[in-house]
Amino acid sequence: MLSGIGPAQHLQEKGIPVIKDSPGVGKNLQDHIAVGGLTFLIDPKIAIVMNRLVNINSALRYALTEDGPLTTSIGLEAVGFISTKYANQTDDWPDIEFMLTSASVNADGGQQVARAHGLTDEFYKEIYEPINFKDSFSVFPMMLRPKSRGEIKLRSKDPFDYPLLYHNYLTHPHDVDVLREGLKAAIAYGQTQTFKRFGARLHNPPLPNCKHLPLYTDEYWECAIRQYTLSIYHYSCTAKMGPPSDPNAVVDPELRVYGVSGLRVIDASIMPTITNGNINAPVIMIGEKGADMVKNYWLGQRYQRRKKRRADRILVTSFNSTSINQSI
Ligand SMILES: Cc1cc2nc3c(=O)[nH]c(=O)nc-3n(C[C@H](O)[C@H](O)[C@H](O)COP(=O)(O)OP(=O)(O)OC[C@H]3O[C@@H](n4cnc5c(N)ncnc54)[C@H](O)[C@@H]3O)c2cc1C
Repeated sequence: MLSGIGPAQHLQEKGIPVIKDSPGVGKNLQDHIAVGGLTFLIDPKIAIVMNRLVNINSALRYALTEDGPLTTSIGLEAVGFISTKYANQTDDWPDIEFMLTSASVNADGGQQVARAHGLTDEFYKEIYEPINFKDSFSVFPMMLRPKSRGEIKLRSKDPFDYPLLYHNYLTHPHDVDVLREGLKAAIAYGQTQTFKRFGARLHNPPLPNCKHLPLYTDEYWECAIRQYTLSIYHYSCTAKMGPPSDPNAVVDPELRVYGVSGLRVIDASIMPTITNGNINAPVIMIGEKGADMVKNYWLGQRYQRRKKRRADRILVTSFNSTSINQSI
């Protein structure tokens, strides 16, 4: 948009000369969000707890043997996929991903994770401070196929100004329904015999702004979801690929920007709809495929040029031999 490719009216408002009016640029913003804070306390001292595990002993162990607690991926040990009642049960295409962590927001006493999750001090104090540094694990049910759509706009034509992001999370009722069912399934999962062996119990004080609702009803869960849901940072789809008949398509199937020659977009933004799982691997595949398309184009050009040169040479040779024949 800063370069002049985007919705013409918006660019003009910001004083940017329009090179190509492309109404789909910045639209169709999608992301994966997950319910946060679903914490199960456990008895054995096996979870990631900052003041117990992040210390000089762990640092030494890591330095000497390259193992120990400092090698964990911040506790995100595993993922799993389930289908809620809103997914088509026959096509094996889950609509919820569980992110399973051997730590919870309380693991560092509210120092970092609470801030990363955007929790207010009052919220943390009321819900998690009583279990500061206690052993626990978490399940984050993440919605895989959001129907809500957001938008990115420019704040100004200054490239150093952050853009405006309108996520519109949970504006489509389907998204709330799926997350609510994912949340219920996550609670059931944490209460299975397997986890009961560790004394797993849900840490479940009523959330501050949901106390007026009867506990564990659908209304309560919907309120909980609206209070503590976080982005998984999978922003994508704002320069979507599509056929020329789609006025909001920004790039064609070869990732070339419609109406602008010599320009491709090769990143997460070209997805028409967000992929059904973490998006980094698909983005790498887009990068690989895009690079091949660029190479094929230029190799094709070179091949065409070489073919033409060869054809010209043959023409010149045959012309010369014809003239020689004629003069003989
Ligand atoms: C905190 C966080 C955690 C994540 N965790 C996961 C995860 O666990 N699993 C997973 O699958 N995905 C994860 N993701 C998502 C994944 O990392 C991104 O979706 C992916 O990296 C997007 O790739 P991209 O190429 O579209 O954009 P980016 O990776 O953002 O690449 C854009 C590049 O363009 C460069 N750039 C920007 N402006 C300019 C300019 N003007 N000129 C030149 N270069 C420029 C930037 O420096 C950057 O290198 C995470 C994302 C975040 C932010």
